[in-house]
Amino acid sequence: MISLSVNGAAGRMGRQLLAAIDERDDARIGAAADAPGQACIGVDTSVLAGGSPSGVQVADNVAALASGSDVIIDFTAPSVSLALLDALQGLDTRVVIGTTGFSGEQLTRLHEHAVHRPILFAPNYSVGVTVTLSLLQQAARAFGDDYDVEIIEAHHRHKVDAPSGTALKMGEVVADALERDLASCAVYGREGITGARDSRTIGFETIRAGDIIGEHTVLFAGAGERIEITHKATDRMTFARGAVRGAVWLASQPSGLYDMTHVLGLDSQRG
Ligand code: NAD
Repeated sequence: MISLSVNGAAGRMGRQLLAAIDERDDARIGAAADAPGQACIGVDTSVLAGGSPSGVQVADNVAALASGSDVIIDFTAPSVSLALLDALQGLDTRVVIGTTGFSGEQLTRLHEHAVHRPILFAPNYSVGVTVTLSLLQQAARAFGDDYDVEIIEAHHRHKVDAPSGTALKMGEVVADALERDLASCAVYGREGITGARDSRTIGFETIRAGDIIGEHTVLFAGAGERIEITHKATDRMTFARGAVRGAVWLASQPSGLYDMTHVLGLDSQRG
């Protein structure tokens, strides 16, 4: 039985993660934590996730979170995820990170941590998005530079980073397939007299509204046709179940940085 713990337990994703662990026969909730001062501190995790009492109370510190955990699942904020990794030094706990919105410098720190422990890091844990990334690679290679690429994403009004980590990952996959550098070819939104479209750019459009869980469309538009590859999440449990599946998989991996393509065995099809 693998012991999985959740950081950010009271969050939109934290609650779903607790429920997703509860669904499995091969894993149990080892510990849960949220920020000091939150109303959930000290309560049984079942108050957050439903179901019968787990006997695990939500803690407000990393020591309690790490104790007895094989894998910690963290969906919080970039500074919180990095502070967790710093605080785990000396322990062999594995970490699944779902947080998005890391800066370049923060990503470098995350990569450094993966030298010493197994870390699974994906901007989107749904199986559907992971498969969509493979489809995008194939499509971009076939369409080449003759098709304009635009990425449109929509999320709920509470989301704090834009474009979404998933949209950026989709952009990265397409840019790599087209042998472009995303940092220099990305265009984020347009306004005013923009001039004609530069054919080597990849455009990003962001919608923030209501309770949209997560929608991504990659548009390839050429002369006389356009192709749209769309993924729509309709339930956060799709991310939570994927992350928990990844956590169980990570429990038997050596140190290194992994993503969902490794969990699904799709990594050998890259390149
Ligand atoms: P949320 O704001 O609902 O939840 C974040 C939780 O983290 C809150 O309960 C907050 O109190 C807690 N937190 C803050 N500081 C903390 C600390 N120091 N220690 C412990 N907990 C702390 O946000 P959310 O919608 O659950 O999203 C969280 C992150 O997950 C975001 O970055 C979001 O983009 C990302 N996300 C990723 C995926 C994916 O599949 N990878 C899917 C959905 C959301």
